[in-house]
Amino acid sequence: MESEKVDNERRAMRWGLTCDKGECQERISKNGKEVFEVCKFKPTIKQVEDNTVDSNPCHYYMQKYDALVSKHSLWNYHAFFTIMKFNKKLFEEYLDRKITVFDEAHKIEDQIIQFVGFDIFSGQVEECNLNSEKYDFTDLDSMIKLTDDMAYSYAKKIKDIKESPAFQNDPDYELITGLERRHDRSAQAKIDIMSDKDNFVVNDPIKDLNGNFRTISVKPIDVSKFANSFFETEYQLFMSATIDKSSFCENMGLQKDDVAFVDTQKSPFSIDHRTVNLLNIKRLSYGSTEEDEIEVIKTIDRIMDEHSNERGLILTSSIPRCQKIIRYLSPKNTSRIRLCHSKNKDGKTQDEVISEHASDPTGVLLSSSLWEGVDLKDDLSRFQIIAKVPYPNYTEKRTRAKMNKFPLWYTSQTLTKILQGFGRSIRSDDDWAKTYVLDTAVNNVFFKGQQMIPKAYYDVLGMDDN
Ligand code: SF4
Repeated sequence: MESEKVDNERRAMRWGLTCDKGECQERISKNGKEVFEVCKFKPTIKQVEDNTVDSNPCHYYMQKYDALVSKHSLWNYHAFFTIMKFNKKLFEEYLDRKITVFDEAHKIEDQIIQFVGFDIFSGQVEECNLNSEKYDFTDLDSMIKLTDDMAYSYAKKIKDIKESPAFQNDPDYELITGLERRHDRSAQAKIDIMSDKDNFVVNDPIKDLNGNFRTISVKPIDVSKFANSFFETEYQLFMSATIDKSSFCENMGLQKDDVAFVDTQKSPFSIDHRTVNLLNIKRLSYGSTEEDEIEVIKTIDRIMDEHSNERGLILTSSIPRCQKIIRYLSPKNTSRIRLCHSKNKDGKTQDEVISEHASDPTGVLLSSSLWEGVDLKDDLSRFQIIAKVPYPNYTEKRTRAKMNKFPLWYTSQTLTKILQGFGRSIRSDDDWAKTYVLDTAVNNVFFKGQQMIPKAYYDVLGMDDN
């Protein structure tokens, strides 16, 4: 696949890389009749397959159909799962493959969850002329009633608009299509939840500063029932440095006997290049004393002094904890810190912060979100400090419900994140970095999750191979 980043919009338009129209297929009125009109740039998949596309085709569809007709193709999770969820029938003949390889398989649950359950936004409730105060946002039955009322309201709106003289004179099909989509989603959400009520949980609503409802999500606790519809080839290969067979099979609804597990015995990287020092400074939790917290931060200060000429990374569990660390570090070390979240206050992206870091020879990234998916190779980071064990967010109702139903899941999520964190700064054979873990609670995670630790980590954790 190709991709281009173009800052100049006009040039991008000239190259055919943007779409200022946005409706690939729209309903329009022709001679008083409702007809579908397809964007003139949109090729058919058959044309792409037969190589008979007209000149100047839509770049997006060329990429997508090219991938579908090719023997092998590489997709991001969202694009692939969108097809598997919504367009499987449409592309049936192109999806008939022998094998699918899922990279970073420890993140699959987070991807699947985006395609099951549903989110309701305040704008939709208002659009349906419903009073949000009439619903109990902690109660599943009340949320089922809300989806039902929304579906009813959308259906009525569509009928009223279609029958109105204004629509008859000058039909706005874009409006109707949007309403129909929202109607179908609300109606489908009700059917999904009703079919397995015990498996759904209502997360706490998100409110604005004035306490008004903004959004709420209803999600399944167990995604295993939905997972198999995303895994349909004869074979699947799930790749990750941090999964274990039992919890993965349980989570994904796979039969253990159907799964062969390859646990690489040794890390390909030398042990001296990826040492882990469990410093056991203090156990950090909600109930930790201020002295304990400060002692951990003073240790961070000391480690930063020891690595005063190098770049590094500090990982912790939340944004408030990042702020607290900054507050107590020495001024010299504070000036080396760059906060890096997925969204940053000054509007900078994660990539922008990391590229600033790359030009600061003693810069240190501080984050609660860089546990995974970031590549700090070579001297982008020579030391990493795990200040606090990253438990899943226990204040989220789904996390609590899932933990109660699948106790091992909570440990496995925490362990995966810690082990992913270990790998941020050692990216190749000749790369190296020192890792320091300060929170004593890590021992508990390793103890509870000892069966789940991949063998490749045994050496750095001083674990017995037998
Ligand atoms: S087919 Fe392509 S060019 Fe046409 S509206 Fe869709 S995205 Fe835009």
